[in-house]
Amino acid sequence: MRIETLAVHAGLRVDPTTGAVAPALHTATTFEHEPDSTAPRGFLYSRTANPNRSALEECLAALEGGAEAAAFASASAATAAVFQALSPGDHVVAPLDAYFGTGKLLRDTFAPWGLAVDFVDMTDVGAVEAALTTRTRVVWIETPSNPLWRVTDIAAVAALARGAGARCVCDNTAATSVLQRPFAHGADLVVYATTKYLGGHGDVTGGAVIARRSDPFFERIRAIQGSGGAVPSPFDCWLVRRGIRTLPWRMRAHCDTALRVATFLASHPRVEAVHYPGLGTHPQHEVARRQMTGFGGMLSVQVRGGRDAAFEVERKVRVFTCATSFGGTESLLEHRASVEGAATRSPESLLRLSIGLEHPDDLIEDLDQALGR
Ligand SMILES: *Cc1c(COP(=O)(O)O)cnc(C)c1O
Repeated sequence: MRIETLAVHAGLRVDPTTGAVAPALHTATTFEHEPDSTAPRGFLYSRTANPNRSALEECLAALEGGAEAAAFASASAATAAVFQALSPGDHVVAPLDAYFGTGKLLRDTFAPWGLAVDFVDMTDVGAVEAALTTRTRVVWIETPSNPLWRVTDIAAVAALARGAGARCVCDNTAATSVLQRPFAHGADLVVYATTKYLGGHGDVTGGAVIARRSDPFFERIRAIQGSGGAVPSPFDCWLVRRGIRTLPWRMRAHCDTALRVATFLASHPRVEAVHYPGLGTHPQHEVARRQMTGFGGMLSVQVRGGRDAAFEVERKVRVFTCATSFGGTESLLEHRASVEGAATRSPESLLRLSIGLEHPDDLIEDLDQALGR
């Protein structure tokens, strides 16, 4: 089945006892079991499995074309579970340019715990190859990457990882399975912040790890999910599953509007640079065209005048809201260097824009008045 149909139906069925078409919310922490503690209906205790979580996991695996999924309370918890499934002494190759929290987890938590980590420019395949060692177990990629929206050639990096006996893990949050299919390009695991486009309405925090095939490594991640307990609540799962029903149609609108906004900004006199994979001027535009069916709803803009000019735009916008995160119905913008603090790699003149589902002309007019002339 196609993704629009999977987004509506995967993991959901009409309730056999009531006939309810929309899924019920199962807040029960415990489920009746047999005298010998076997669980005939598959559920025993809500930390290890819950009907709303199982429905979401079945849906996530189906959307991605994977074998299994494990849902977490946030993408950070999902990311940590992948690294916890490694052993001290293992080596990880991670992107220089990625979600700030991923690098922070590796540097502050997992390096002291015993993982060896090298950060490389993932757009430079030679640099990735040079970083691989006999101890490399994970090559982490994020594409397009936050906040410069640089594009990694998934097939090239996944092939290098496989050759070195490592897994390629792809954070697919910005593109989603609607626009990019990492498993088709050889990735082994896909990670999501369901907080973003999958939830889609800025009202639920969540994450997931999806496996291309069931194997002992994914079994470790599954065990960490149950024993570590960083699991989403039943209502969180219900909300993400609800958001996913419209995901393919929302992504189309996000892409169309983002391209219009990016094109407008690229010709604005107060703009120094626009970072959007859909623009012909983007350094990895050709790679993006090869591996994506749309360029997403995220872009960044560098305004003339540096930090102060960027702050001025933030103060003047009326339709955009100055806030972090992305992937919701409302457009947001933020100054990443301020959010990320001292260790930031974001230019001071850079504002990150999450393009929502408002009318494109209202967004363009808002940015035009905020930028001034
Ligand atoms: C937001 C984000 C995360 C972290 O998500 P949380 O749910 O807040 O932990 C990880 N990766 C990417 C690409 C993100 O955008």
